[in-house]
Amino acid sequence: MAELKEIFCQDKAISILQRAFAADKVPHAYIFAGLDGIGKFKTARQWAKLLLCKSPSIKNNFADSCGRCQSCLLFEAGSHPDFNLVYKELLEFTKNGKGKDPPIDFPIDVIREFVVEKVSVKPVLSQRKVFIITEAEKMDIEPQNALLKTLEEPPDFCSIILICTSLEKLLPTTRSRCQTIRFSPVSEDRIIKKLEQMGMSENQAKYFARFSQGSIGFACHLAQIELAEPDPTDAKKGPLPKLYETKKEIIDSIVSLKYADSLELAEQFLDKSREIAKFWGRLDDATSTKDINRRSHKVILQIIISALTDAMKFGIVKSQDLINFDQQDKIENLAARFAPEQAAEKIADTYKSMQWVDASVNERLIFEQLLLNLAVSDIINVSQ
Ligand SMILES: [Zn+2]
Repeated sequence: MAELKEIFCQDKAISILQRAFAADKVPHAYIFAGLDGIGKFKTARQWAKLLLCKSPSIKNNFADSCGRCQSCLLFEAGSHPDFNLVYKELLEFTKNGKGKDPPIDFPIDVIREFVVEKVSVKPVLSQRKVFIITEAEKMDIEPQNALLKTLEEPPDFCSIILICTSLEKLLPTTRSRCQTIRFSPVSEDRIIKKLEQMGMSENQAKYFARFSQGSIGFACHLAQIELAEPDPTDAKKGPLPKLYETKKEIIDSIVSLKYADSLELAEQFLDKSREIAKFWGRLDDATSTKDINRRSHKVILQIIISALTDAMKFGIVKSQDLINFDQQDKIENLAARFAPEQAAEKIADTYKSMQWVDASVNERLIFEQLLLNLAVSDIINVSQ
């Protein structure tokens, strides 16, 4: 059974929470801010469990849930009546949401029906009532405004936690009504250690740690995909994607990319992405298929960005701290092909492609445009 003290590498954030708890001055609204996959949600859940617990234990000035009371047991069983996990996919359970597709942005109806209308109802089991709102950065102006009054004057028994990857997406009015706790990226060494414990070789662990840039959750997800064993009883599920091989292939093909091959390569990248998504979906059934597909496309785009970033860095300082340290010869070739300024432009273009993925632009088009663009600029470069 998980507890607050078991959360990895977020000592600073947790000590801020502990101080508030010890002083009995828990703010009504928090923003937990930081990258995806560094423990914000886990911390929020364990914090909620502690706030709801009937007899918290306090050892060495560290408060934690007891894990045994009725509240803790119901919390772990996912049926605590005073705990509200609010996420955008609840749309289909709103009054007018039946049959609607999983949303990209955070729908105002979810905020209205699952937060605003529920906050004033008294808790039934615990002293408090806790709301965790995930992906708060996907709330537009309207849902944020709908939440404002609740954040301003919540009932005394109410605690709201907004989980957010980019603070700048939240309105100043939202931010000023909450206490923000920043979660830091996890150090490369700790991630490497964790991946090695999972069974990854030293080289691969180092690569995935650098690639995930401090997001230990993301690194572990990728490691799970990489390390999965085929299930001999189920041949229908198809071959397992090998991420590390895939990234090597992608970088190889970017280095030798020719305009005439761009469309075919786009198709291959899409196939790889779909393979990864299919398997990823099996590991994570809480996320919609559409969101898993988007994530998978983004992994492919991030691999391209990592290669271009390395090429840019290499072009400037011959840096040895490359993400793709294991393919340094390829990065050198790429650096010879793109001058640093040009690599920077291509990185910006690839980030734009990432935004298109979020905006649900046709995926084939995104990959085709991107690869044609990468190939075209090379021709210009050569002719100069
Ligand atoms: Zn308890």
